Amino acid sequence: MRIDSPRRREHLKAVADRLPAHLERLTWTADQIAQERQRALRETLAHAKANSPWYCERLARVDPDTFTEADLTSLPIMTKTDVMENWDDIVTDRRLTLAGANAHITAKLRGETHDYYYLDDTEIFATGGSSGTRGVFVWGWNEFIEIACITNRYQSRDEPPSPGKETGRRLLAVIEAGETVHGSPFLFSVTPDPHTDVRWFPAASPMADLVAELNKAQPTHINGFASTVQALAGEALAGRLKIRPKHVATNSEPLMPEARTLVKQAWNIDINNMWGCVEVGHIGIECDAHEGLHLSDDAIITEFVDHDDRPVANPEDVEKVLVTSLFNRVQPIIRYELTDMAIPAATPCSCGAVYPLVREIRGRADDAFRYAGGIAIHPLLFRTPLGQNPMIEEYQVRQTEDGASVAVVARGDVDIGQIKSDIVVALKAGGLTDPHIEIVMVDRIARHRETGKLKRFLPLG
Ligand SMILES: [Zn+2]
Repeated sequence: MRIDSPRRREHLKAVADRLPAHLERLTWTADQIAQERQRALRETLAHAKANSPWYCERLARVDPDTFTEADLTSLPIMTKTDVMENWDDIVTDRRLTLAGANAHITAKLRGETHDYYYLDDTEIFATGGSSGTRGVFVWGWNEFIEIACITNRYQSRDEPPSPGKETGRRLLAVIEAGETVHGSPFLFSVTPDPHTDVRWFPAASPMADLVAELNKAQPTHINGFASTVQALAGEALAGRLKIRPKHVATNSEPLMPEARTLVKQAWNIDINNMWGCVEVGHIGIECDAHEGLHLSDDAIITEFVDHDDRPVANPEDVEKVLVTSLFNRVQPIIRYELTDMAIPAATPCSCGAVYPLVREIRGRADDAFRYAGGIAIHPLLFRTPLGQNPMIEEYQVRQTEDGASVAVVARGDVDIGQIKSDIVVALKAGGLTDPHIEIVMVDRIARHRETGKLKRFLPLG
């Protein structure tokens, strides 16, 4: 895939023009960030109330001029179901309708249009939903610029382009969903360095083909789904993938600790992880200090809450987060529920940016497998026996009535009996009395058709 058009080039130019302002934001004090949040929150509420029929009603009693962040808890929570059921009334641009957006998505999937822009200045993306609910989201011209700058600003700070100096060849391999209905090919192919070439590689390619293509291309930078990057590091350790990237960024899927370890072993570098979603863009970005992911606190308000949406005192009690975009004007997102279990860090990053850190993203709380008798098994329990086994390249766990069926892509001979008994031990420790585990060896695990993502844990129902 090659994403290019006059409009796209214009967009990339606008991102490059805006990036210096975002680099400056990284030097802001906590007070400056707080002031900007206050200003932008009021602007967000005023715009939503004035231009969205849904918000006009919902925010009827809100006075944007006097609203403060402390008042946020008085606002109702927004879900993906709210977005989908009230789509036409939520958006602030009256040209946009869900029917029109869906028709555009269908036309792109069928190859009937190659125009990435809808109505000239918006982009429409569909999520396959790790939550199971399909969502349709829109980024306006400015929303894309802000999201792209937030995605790239730490890298731009930590690895600045040096004009006039010999920086060597730079090739960014973007290994993402091949479909243009997903935001990742558009966003992750933006590079903060104008001297970097960009090439796309579909994550859904057979691994041997992907390895061959990458061996040919010799990328210096890689941006890909966490599961793909993990598999590639395994290929490098097996001696088949012969590249020496100096920057590897992961996105879109929970990053398993074993992926970090494999990348370190393979290329002696630390992954720069990103945490985001199509609804608001990147909530957290890991800088080169690798101490956690910096919250995008100047652009997104993130509330860490428990199951009942109450703020948590203990970071370990976080069950989900509520996000408010401070820049999305076309489809306002205010106190939107994400079921990511993100654990805030207690200490600031040593890089000097005061944006607080999240130390871990644990994947989604709604991935928990719930069994009869009220027993909830967190997918983490499967990770040690499966993720730590060096012979397992990839896996997918599907919940069954009394256990799970596990699809495994192996690198060579694996001891199925051993894996099975390791999982049974883990599940028994988790409270399931007589778990039944089935292991199925497969050649590959299908990605979601629209997003290209690997859904690693599939709960029943
Ligand atoms: Zn940092």
